[in-house]
Amino acid sequence: MTLDSAHLFLNSHKSLSQHQSPQPPPPPSLSFLSNHSPLPPIPTNFPQSKLIPKSRFVVDGFRCSGDYSVTYFLSHFHSDHYSGLSPKWSNGIIFCSNTTARLLVEVLGVSSLFVYPLAVSQPVLIDGCEVALLDANHCPGAVQFLFKVPGVDGRFERYVHTGDFRFCESMKLEPCLGEFVGSEAVFLDTTYCNPKFVFPSQDESVDYIVEAIERIGLENKGLMKSVLFLVATYVIGKERILLEISRRRNCKIHVDGRKMSVLRVLGYEDGGVFTEDESKSDVHVVGWNVLGETWPYFRPNFVKMKEIMIERGYSKVVGFVPTGWTYEVKRNKFAMRTKDSFEIHLVPYSEHSNYDELREYVKFLRPKRVIPTVGLDIEKLDSKHANAMRKHFAGLVDEMAIKHEFLKGFQRGCLEADENVENNTRTVLNKELDAEKHVTFSKRKTKESTESGFLAVSSSSMQEPGSRDSTLLNDKGSEEVIQELRDCLPIWVTQNQMLDLLSCSDGNVIEAVSNFYERETEFREQVIGHTNSVCTSQTSSLKDSVSLSKLGSVGSSPQKMEDIHGSQSYSLLNIRSSMKSSSLSSGKRKKNLDKKSIKKGKVGSKPESGGSKQSTITRFFSKIASNDSQSGDGISEQLSDNENSFPSEAITSYEEQVEQFIKIVNVDESSRYYVSSILKKTKGDINMALDIYYSKPEGNLGENEERLVVSSKSIQPECCIQSCSSELEKKVSEKESGNIVEAKGLSRDTIAATLVSLPLEKYSPIEHACWKLGQPAPYLHLARTFDLVEGEKGKIKAASMLCNMFRSLLALSPEDVIPAVYLCTNKIAADHENMELNIGGSIVTSAMEEACGTSRSKIRAMYNSLGDLGRKR
Ligand SMILES: [Zn+2]
Repeated sequence: MTLDSAHLFLNSHKSLSQHQSPQPPPPPSLSFLSNHSPLPPIPTNFPQSKLIPKSRFVVDGFRCSGDYSVTYFLSHFHSDHYSGLSPKWSNGIIFCSNTTARLLVEVLGVSSLFVYPLAVSQPVLIDGCEVALLDANHCPGAVQFLFKVPGVDGRFERYVHTGDFRFCESMKLEPCLGEFVGSEAVFLDTTYCNPKFVFPSQDESVDYIVEAIERIGLENKGLMKSVLFLVATYVIGKERILLEISRRRNCKIHVDGRKMSVLRVLGYEDGGVFTEDESKSDVHVVGWNVLGETWPYFRPNFVKMKEIMIERGYSKVVGFVPTGWTYEVKRNKFAMRTKDSFEIHLVPYSEHSNYDELREYVKFLRPKRVIPTVGLDIEKLDSKHANAMRKHFAGLVDEMAIKHEFLKGFQRGCLEADENVENNTRTVLNKELDAEKHVTFSKRKTKESTESGFLAVSSSSMQEPGSRDSTLLNDKGSEEVIQELRDCLPIWVTQNQMLDLLSCSDGNVIEAVSNFYERETEFREQVIGHTNSVCTSQTSSLKDSVSLSKLGSVGSSPQKMEDIHGSQSYSLLNIRSSMKSSSLSSGKRKKNLDKKSIKKGKVGSKPESGGSKQSTITRFFSKIASNDSQSGDGISEQLSDNENSFPSEAITSYEEQVEQFIKIVNVDESSRYYVSSILKKTKGDINMALDIYYSKPEGNLGENEERLVVSSKSIQPECCIQSCSSELEKKVSEKESGNIVEAKGLSRDTIAATLVSLPLEKYSPIEHACWKLGQPAPYLHLARTFDLVEGEKGKIKAASMLCNMFRSLLALSPEDVIPAVYLCTNKIAADHENMELNIGGSIVTSAMEEACGTSRSKIRAMYNSLGDLGRKR
């Protein structure tokens, strides 16, 4: 069955105008639709628990009705759900179950023109979306709604809205619900979403009430009209209790006119169970709050009970409040409130799911998200309460799907950023590496891939050369299945692996996914083994060419060229690592540089005079020569120009050194005096001067200087590469890079330690990371970042360090992102997991005792003087 709510709505108003007079003012949506103009957009602050995403379907949200929708759904006939409906309702079509439709029309007086009953378990198409109703085990007519809303790529997004419901095992067997396993979201009845809510079965509660009536009746036997039993109920619901009392006590149940009209709709009028005649029964049904308010805790209304007792001529009143709120269950003793001749029994009887049942349901459906529909402040997306509520289901929802979604979003952004950074590089690469075009991997493809589905491209880029290709996917059906699977699996899974998974599961995606996660490590290892070999050879050959072309453009003397060509005999890997950091490859380059420095004589003063901070500067300069992957065309040209114009004599005048100095530290002319005073102090030794400058930068520093100072503190002022004088950089690097760095025994790791402090656009998540694709991210990566962040006062800079840290994680070890997020926030797991390291001062002290071979008392003494176990002396 295909329905169009706008069409139904227009027809209803047409009939309304024919039948009714005087006419109520038509809703604004009517004029939009009659003019064939689109409805206004749904307000952004629309309560999230009442709106099905990517549709105009409003569930139980009649109070929020507006001109933006004419398609409304009512889950059941409880006032907190139908509020906003009245006989005047004409804002849209209300889709609901048959029972609810009858109640709406016959009890509430809503015009039948706007009520559209749907059969349970028979999907219909409404406005292009498939909608199915499923019994909610709540009150008569209560249903859950199952929506399939068209999403991207012509696929459906599935949503379950439970309305109010009590989970029962039989729901799992519903075939139409089975189709909703792995839904986008479940809008969940979170009335009792708290572990303190554990109800006995409904039978136990019914037994309790019936037995209490029997017992109290016996105790007061012979006294005519002595005890009045009151049972509080809503307008509908809890009929089962009433029917059971009637059946087992063989009595009628008194209800008022309104309740009777509801019961009539529900089909109970002919059973002889209910009567409107007070005198025919000692069991009377009263409204929900007559015996007392139930929320947030029960407050008995003995005054009202007394009124009823006197009015109806009894000497004792016993009330029963069957509610889920009475969670004060102590060893089968239900709570009771008494005063004078009044008793109120709080009977745990719930038509809502209790905590365990909610979890069971979510576990079964394994949705990507749970959207609470009941609770304080839940209408606000990500409100404190909604978040707290969601945490109860954190382990049950499809966290992997959420993580993938989360990471996908980031990875897109990350790769796009990379794309920009690498544009320059790529122009060089493209010119010189035509033959190796395929090597540039998914990066060059990023733009298309983000449009056409990132996963598809990236996973195919991971594909083994010559592997089964699209030939296996020539029929459209399996292509769709593969795509679906891709969406569920991490991006590194290869097409072959997906095909294997599918063949093992007979094409069943869900099974394939669960098989995958059972053997995730195995798959991962397969991929790592493979990509490592592919990547290494590809990247290194790429690097090789880059380095050669780069060095070629730098080198102008035939001897240098010779040396460079000689270096080709070095393994590709060597060259690759030389590109990453100079120290490892310095063996080869040092030779060149040493020769040159000998030729050119001494510049400035002795290298060893630099003091402790000497390494900072030298490493900085030694780095530049190797930093071509970042610099691209511009720098290499600059370098070669400078090489040509480089004077063979040593520079002696302070003036020139001041110029250089100013260029290095990137300060403006106003600092000239300060700079030259330092240089004079150091007798022209730029390195020493730089040390002094960085340890004591002049007064108010601009943004650039500040950055430099910060970087120098953290040993790696690589960010200012471009602002540096390449002449100086050559001189210093030639003179010192090799020997100093080597002499000081600095590994490339120490240099890499501060790479995350590079500006975002200079940091390459893959190149600058201290580990490789497929390896688990080392904690060192985080530790270094935290160390840098700790010493960083600027928020922006600290954020960019963290950002770089995450970019590497995303690019190389996405599975480590979430743990890293926790660690960044001083946690090791999500709050709801209740996991703590449980390492306190005493354990740390013991560890230090053992590690440092010192005594506890000594540590305590140090602690007393320093005030912090982590503090250095
Ligand atoms: Zn309800």
